[in-house]
Amino acid sequence: MFALTYRMQRRISKAQQHYAKQLGVQLEYIKKRSKEKRNRKIQAATRKAVFNRDEHSCVLCGKKSDLTIDHIFPFSKGGGHELENLRVLCKSCNQYKSDALF
Ligand SMILES: [Zn+2]
Repeated sequence: MFALTYRMQRRISKAQQHYAKQLGVQLEYIKKRSKEKRNRKIQAATRKAVFNRDEHSCVLCGKKSDLTIDHIFPFSKGGGHELENLRVLCKSCNQYKSDALF
């Protein structure tokens, strides 16, 4: 981000360099935080797509009520919100599965 050439670095004072570095660290921090925030929630369009693909029924037992979206590879273990990693499960199947991998 603050890729300065050697020449530019020589023109900038130590204090300015320090400030630029601090600013860079802050920007990295904000970027990281906003990424975490975005990742936490499944987009409404994604949810809709998963429900449509799985025909609004639990993929394990076929139940059509108390449906939830499940992460095949658990979100808590780094799984993402990609369609391939999401499926429809009823509440009891989801609770039974918890964060196991199957
Ligand atoms: Zn089920």
